[in-house]
Amino acid sequence: MRVKIGLNNYGIKRIRQGNPLIQAEDLKQNIKKIPFEWVEFVDNKNKYVATGYLGKQNKGFGWVIDQTQRPIDQAFFMEKLQYAFDQRQAFFADETTTAFRIFNGEGDGFGGVTVDYYADYLVISWYNETIYHFKNMIVDSLLKVFPNAKGLVEKIRFKSDLTESRWLAGEKPQEPLIVLENGVSYAVYLDEGYMTGIFLDQKEVRGRLTEGLAAGQKVLNMFSYTGAFSVAAAYGGALETTSVDLAQRSLPKTQEQFEVNGLSLEQQKIIVMDTFDYFRYAARKNLRYNLIILDPPSFARNKKKTFSVAKDYGRLIEDSVDILSDEGMIIASTNAANLSIKKFKQAIETALRNKNVNYQLTESYRLPADFPASNFEESNYLKVLFYTIKK
Ligand code: SAH
Repeated sequence: MRVKIGLNNYGIKRIRQGNPLIQAEDLKQNIKKIPFEWVEFVDNKNKYVATGYLGKQNKGFGWVIDQTQRPIDQAFFMEKLQYAFDQRQAFFADETTTAFRIFNGEGDGFGGVTVDYYADYLVISWYNETIYHFKNMIVDSLLKVFPNAKGLVEKIRFKSDLTESRWLAGEKPQEPLIVLENGVSYAVYLDEGYMTGIFLDQKEVRGRLTEGLAAGQKVLNMFSYTGAFSVAAAYGGALETTSVDLAQRSLPKTQEQFEVNGLSLEQQKIIVMDTFDYFRYAARKNLRYNLIILDPPSFARNKKKTFSVAKDYGRLIEDSVDILSDEGMIIASTNAANLSIKKFKQAIETALRNKNVNYQLTESYRLPADFPASNFEESNYLKVLFYTIKK
């Protein structure tokens, strides 16, 4: 017998609409201790609604994973994983791209875990402690469905005393491991913290940069991390790139990304600095860029200041306009799940109107096909808007 968890009508309605994310306010009782097992969500009359689990993570308080009362066992997981792999055949067949997501949590049928593929290695990420209790069964299923995996690394993405990253099975991945995306090489470190060096959900935007959008342009890449956008732009013929990130590690990491592509560092500036300080510096020096890429973290703390996308995006846009050439483009990106596309657009366009420029939204990107979203807005968290601007 599974533990029964009562849902209120609001929660039941959301499940019926196809939203698998359980929120604390959907539950009828106050949960003091989260059960580390599958539970049965029931209605007022104690009648079955769905199978799932409770788990505290960044978003929400648990997931619905089934609505048929079947057992949640190895066969269940193998079926979900197999289906997800089958959906990625086009990615496996494409020799110019060797890193992509092969299991996207709720978008592939159960929330709380994702699997990425990096040139024959797998990285599995656990987003809450409950699903981590099923680690052995899920890892066994994964390796059965994907017997050719060279090695497996896990990432702990929930609050715990465990280290963020751990090599679990097979061969230890080389450091760096070189993966390809649209023919561009990227150096990744699979077993280092919870990030790997590349955010795979931005492949379409990087693809546009290599495909011609950046050709002949002076590109400024803000919040550049390992410089992936800069490398894509340089590969695509950018005249020069400038990468700005606060983290010291971004300098050697970005240099390495250019080097593994045989791109000369001469036309590439890599600057360790706060974005807002760089805006002031560039304005003072009269620097101008044709293409400015903004991809901040959804929330960050620097010294005493905090940056939040909802509050500060407008300022990023206004500062960008000041150092944009008379005709240019801003690529505005955010992965903030709690900011709707509508609000994001409003923040950007209000700022552009404040600056009295002509603008046009010319392209937009959401999550790529290997990151299928579930049927609720926060699941499709990525928003990337290309604005063509005339001063
Ligand atoms: N655009 C990158 C990913 C950005 S991740 C890519 O596509 O790969 C967010 C980055 O923002 C981190 O590397 C972090 O160091 C940096 N960052 C956070 N706050 C910052 C600030 N105030 N100024 C500059 N960089 C900042």
